[in-house]
Amino acid sequence: MSIKEETMQEYGYYVGGKFKKSRDRIEVINPVTEELCAHIFETTKDDLEFAIQSGRSAQKEWKKTPFKERANVLREIAKTILGNLKELAELEAKEIGKPFKEPLFVDIPLGADCFNYYASLLDSLEEESIQSDLGIDLIRYEPFGVAGIYLPYNVPLMTFGFSCAAALAAGNALIIKPSEYGSLSLLGLAQYIDTLDTPKGLINVVTGRGESMGKLLAESTVDMISFTGSRDTLKKIIARSKDVPKKIICELGGCNFTVVFSDADKEEAIQNILGSSFMKQGQMCVGTSVVLIQDSVYDDIVGQLKKRALKIQLGDPFDPMVGMGPLPTREHLENIHQRVKGLQVKGAKIICGAKSLNQKGYFYPPTIIETKEALYEEFFAPVILIKRFRTRLEVEEIIEKNPTGLVMQIWTKDIPFAEQLAQKASCGTVWINTFVQMSSQTPFGGMRSSGWGRNLGKFGFFEYIQPKHIGIGFKKSPVSGWFGI
Ligand code: NAD
Repeated sequence: MSIKEETMQEYGYYVGGKFKKSRDRIEVINPVTEELCAHIFETTKDDLEFAIQSGRSAQKEWKKTPFKERANVLREIAKTILGNLKELAELEAKEIGKPFKEPLFVDIPLGADCFNYYASLLDSLEEESIQSDLGIDLIRYEPFGVAGIYLPYNVPLMTFGFSCAAALAAGNALIIKPSEYGSLSLLGLAQYIDTLDTPKGLINVVTGRGESMGKLLAESTVDMISFTGSRDTLKKIIARSKDVPKKIICELGGCNFTVVFSDADKEEAIQNILGSSFMKQGQMCVGTSVVLIQDSVYDDIVGQLKKRALKIQLGDPFDPMVGMGPLPTREHLENIHQRVKGLQVKGAKIICGAKSLNQKGYFYPPTIIETKEALYEEFFAPVILIKRFRTRLEVEEIIEKNPTGLVMQIWTKDIPFAEQLAQKASCGTVWINTFVQMSSQTPFGGMRSSGWGRNLGKFGFFEYIQPKHIGIGFKKSPVSGWFGI
C-alpha cells in the first residue's frame, strides 16, 4: 500500500484507530521553496480525550499480552518502517530540509532498530521471584498506562524509536505529540501501523502546535510523559502538568564540547568536528556546540575547518551532491542570524559563514566563530564556537562549569588521561576518539540541565515500567503477635 493520493496534501491526526481532521489546518512549508507543501491539523480537545480513553482500553489488553507476543508486534513495526523507508525518508527530507540520505541511511533505520532491539529484550525478559524464609516475593514489571510522548522536529522517526519502542515494550499505550515542524513522517507511518494487528488506540498521534496541543497533553490525565525537546518547553510542560503530577523523563539538548589535544589524530578530529557540527544543518542534540583546541595545533586545525566548511554545498536535500539543506523555518533562520550578530557585536571573530544567503529557502551557511572566553551555547544550527586552550587544567575547569551535560568528544592519543577526563565530566555520553558510537543497546540521556532519565538499552526499558512487589506469605508475618494480644 502506498500513502493515498488525497492524503499527500492533508495529513489527518490518528486517534483511537481513526484518521481525523479538524477545522484548524496548519500549513507545512517546504523550507527549500518556501511554498506550501501539505497541511496537518490541530487535534481538538475532544479528540485528545478520545485518544486517551482509547489508549486506556487498548492498554488493558496490551498489558496482558505475553512478552513474546509483544515482541512480535514490535518486530512488525520495525518491518513496517523499513519496508516503507524511502517514502518516509522523503517526507522527513521534504518537511525538515535535511539531506535525503540522512533519514534514509541513518535516522529512520536507527529508529526501526530500537523496535527490533526491544523485541529481543522481551524475548529473554523474565520477571523475578525471590524465595525467602517468609514466603515468595514476586517482582512484576507494571507499565504506567498511557504515556504522553513529545517528539522534536529534527529526527521524528528516530526519536519515535528511541522513546516509543521501550514504552510499548513495557506495556504502555502511546499518545504521541510530534513537533508541528516535523509531523509528516510519523503521520505517514501511522497509515501503515493502522493496518497491523494491534489493539486500536494503542498508538495515537495528536498533531498540533506546541502552545495548544502540547499544552493540553501536559495538562491531561496521561500517566507519564517522555519529552524530547528544549529546556524552555520542558519548563512549560512541568508547570502545566502541576495539577495532575506525573513522572516525566526528558531528553534535552545542551552545549556539547569537543576537545582536541595536540597529540590527537588531526585528520580524524577534523572529519568528526565537521560531521558533528554541520550534519543536519547542525540540528543534532549530540552535535558539537563548542570546540576547544590546544594551542600548538589550533591554527592548523582552524584553517582546515574553514577550508573544508566552505566546500560544503548547500541546496536541495534531494540532490545527492548537497551536504546541507535549509533550516526548517524562517523564524529559526532569523533567530540564529540575530544570535550570531549579537556575538559579533560582543567581539567574537567570524572565521567563516555568518551571513544570511540571498536566495530562496531558509539556508544558513556553515559558520565558525572564534571566542576568547568559554561560552555555553547551543545554537541547534550550523554554527560552532571555537576557543584556544593551553593546559589540561584549563579544559577541566571549562567542562566543570558547563551547566548542561549531554555528550562530549575528546580527541587525544593519551587514552588513560582521556578516560580520567571522561570520568570527571558530568555528561551522559563521552566519546574518546569517536563520535556517535551508540546503538539501541547503549543508554542515552543527559546530566545536569540536559535532562533526566534514559532512553535506549535496558535502562530505557525500565524508565517505562513501575516495578511492583507482590509478597505471598507462607508463614506468620513479621508483626504477627507483636503486641502479644
Ligand atoms: P521544542 O521544545 O520546541 O519542541 C519539542 C516538542 O514540544 C514538540 O512536540 C513541540 O510541539 C512541543 N512543544 C513546543 N512548545 C510547547 C509548549 N509550550 N507546551 C507544550 N509542548 C510544546 O524542541 P524542538 O525545537 O522541536 O527540538 C530541538 C530541541 O530538542 C533542541 O534543544 C535539541 O537539543 C533537543 N533534542 C534533544 C534530543 C535528545 O535526545 N536529547 C534529541 C533531539 C532534539
